[in-house]
Amino acid sequence: MDRSRRTPVIAGNWKMNLGPAACRALLEELLAELPADPGCEVLVCPPYLDLPLAAELLVGSPVALGAQNCHWENAGAYTGEIAPAMLREAGCRAVIVGHSERRQYFGETDETAGRRLAAAVEEGLTGILCVGESLADREAGEELAVCARQLAGGLSGIDAAGLSRVILAYEPVWAIGTGRTATAEEAGRVCRALRRMAAERYGEEAAAGLRILYGGSMNEKNARELLAQPDIDGGLIGGAALAAGRFCGIIAACGEEGVL
Ligand code: PEP
Repeated sequence: MDRSRRTPVIAGNWKMNLGPAACRALLEELLAELPADPGCEVLVCPPYLDLPLAAELLVGSPVALGAQNCHWENAGAYTGEIAPAMLREAGCRAVIVGHSERRQYFGETDETAGRRLAAAVEEGLTGILCVGESLADREAGEELAVCARQLAGGLSGIDAAGLSRVILAYEPVWAIGTGRTATAEEAGRVCRALRRMAAERYGEEAAAGLRILYGGSMNEKNARELLAQPDIDGGLIGGAALAAGRFCGIIAACGEEGVL
């Protein structure tokens, strides 16, 4: 499928790191280092508390703002949750849903990830749906079956029009925060399979426009090789997004000749 239709995305997931003071310092450094035209979409997803400050700092910059989760309702008695409409009001354009840490520590299921994604898309946000197998799944040769199940559940409330507001992130759990990256070929193979699954559900045309990111210990050194895979359209970056130089290194790799 022709990848020239897909603008690459480099997204930083800060997780539960960096309060407002540190957020300001990192974004100021990032904006000073980043070229005016980075050659790809750049997104940062700080903790909720940083969002208003980040939105202010990012005005007029090539960096878009996202959040790390959202609820499926826009208001109500859901202590500790945050609504898609609130994220939009705070200046977010995107939101991550179904991250493996939400699945592992906070009881996220395919069904709840699907409800969050549908609500985010309905609100006009871009939803980044994370899927990926555990080490045990992979050792059992189950990685595609697990990804297929997570994809079907996550996309259950998304129709063909909604798919244009969805980005997939393939994040093998065993590669997140471990320093252990999937080989470019392995990651590329699963992303190709994910695109095929999307084509079966939404048709070739829609799947050809779907952006699929790789996440899991991507850094400024391995990014080039991963991004050169024809079905990998960018990265979801955790640890390496917390240092401006490393994040910019990944963004620069995305723009290198022959990578995309
Ligand atoms: C992530 O949290 O989505 C992630 C990929 O983390 P890391 O880059 O640190 O593995």
